[in-house]
Amino acid sequence: MNCNIGVIRGDGIGPEIVAEAIKVLDKIGEKYSHTFNYDEILMGGCSIDATGEPLTEGAIEQAKKADAVLLGSIGGDPKTSPWYKLPADKRPEAGLLGIRKALNLFANLRPAYLYPQLKEACPLRDDIIGDGFDMMIMRELTGGLYFGKRETKEVNGKTEAYDTLSYNEDEIRRIAIRSFDIAMKRSKKVTSVDKANVLDSSRLWRKVVEEVAVDYPEITLEHMLVDNAAMQLVKDPKQFDVILTENMFGDILSDEASMVTGSIGMLSSASLNETKFGLYEPSGGSAPDIAGKGIANPIATILSAAMMLRFTFDMDKEADAIENAINKVLDDGYRTIDIMPAPGKDTTGITRVGTKEMGDLICDRI
Ligand code: NAD
Repeated sequence: MNCNIGVIRGDGIGPEIVAEAIKVLDKIGEKYSHTFNYDEILMGGCSIDATGEPLTEGAIEQAKKADAVLLGSIGGDPKTSPWYKLPADKRPEAGLLGIRKALNLFANLRPAYLYPQLKEACPLRDDIIGDGFDMMIMRELTGGLYFGKRETKEVNGKTEAYDTLSYNEDEIRRIAIRSFDIAMKRSKKVTSVDKANVLDSSRLWRKVVEEVAVDYPEITLEHMLVDNAAMQLVKDPKQFDVILTENMFGDILSDEASMVTGSIGMLSSASLNETKFGLYEPSGGSAPDIAGKGIANPIATILSAAMMLRFTFDMDKEADAIENAINKVLDDGYRTIDIMPAPGKDTTGITRVGTKEMGDLICDRI
């Protein structure tokens, strides 16, 4: 198969971790006879430096022409980088919001999987972890509070601000359908998270999700209030399979779910629209504190490339090959700095490696 991939290396550790994901994709191409063509796209701080804009129309056009986009990470240190002296709509992060909107990427998928080899990094008690957990957070990405009308104004001599949380039934239906489709390939359970006891938008959310569920009789659907969901994630994460939720709740819950897995460097993500197109990126940021040191963990980006193979190119066995290779590398005791055992813990059989070595070790096992 001939696959056209837009590549946004971005800022900070972005170029380092993307290089390893490309190495792994090329290894897959070699082994399974696929051709991966890469088109370099500028976005974020590096685009500001080159063009004055975090995302140009030309970059959007390049992304639209690709079958999928692989993104490293964008942004710098907000305390020291000159990018953060610019108005908000000219900063690196505006590029990310812009590309999501331009490509209509309404469904954000973040798997939270606890690797048994990294159980030590999980902050939860052993009896809570049990045999581990494996969930997929489905977050609506282009509606709700982050895109609604907002204003800051003076009212009777006091400053007042408001934001609007609004969804229409079509926006809810399309993410619900995506979630149920994905749950069908997993453990067939969807937990829809809302605040239906207070919010009108949540009551509509619940109604539409129930309508969609009628077409999926094999799926067990439950509704959970967001405050309870935040508690249940740390009390009993094993109960979840697919968590379906709106933009802001998903923003918060997906970070919480990430933390209970232990390392940001292991967490992939995908943002999809109604076609096969997707934007695939690690969940972490540009990690300016470790950029250029060759120590960043490339696994989240490599797992994001595996998600690309699975969701955009329907290459399940190739995606499995990458995931199995990562498991083997972890079984063999190789760790980047972020997934090393905590100080004072047993390090027998554990070898610390850098970004490039981790990429090579994964390629060797494909
Ligand atoms: P961050 O995720 O970049 O870093 C948080 C901590 O996690 C740091 O200690 C970092 O060293 C560590 N870390 C992150 N990824 C790692 C990896 N692959 N391997 C090892 N350690 C890793 O979050 P932050 O410091 O809050 O943000 C830094 C910059 O990244 C900001 O400009 C922020 O806006 C941006 N950001 C970008 C994205 C994106 O591109 N999608 C997402 C989040 C943050």
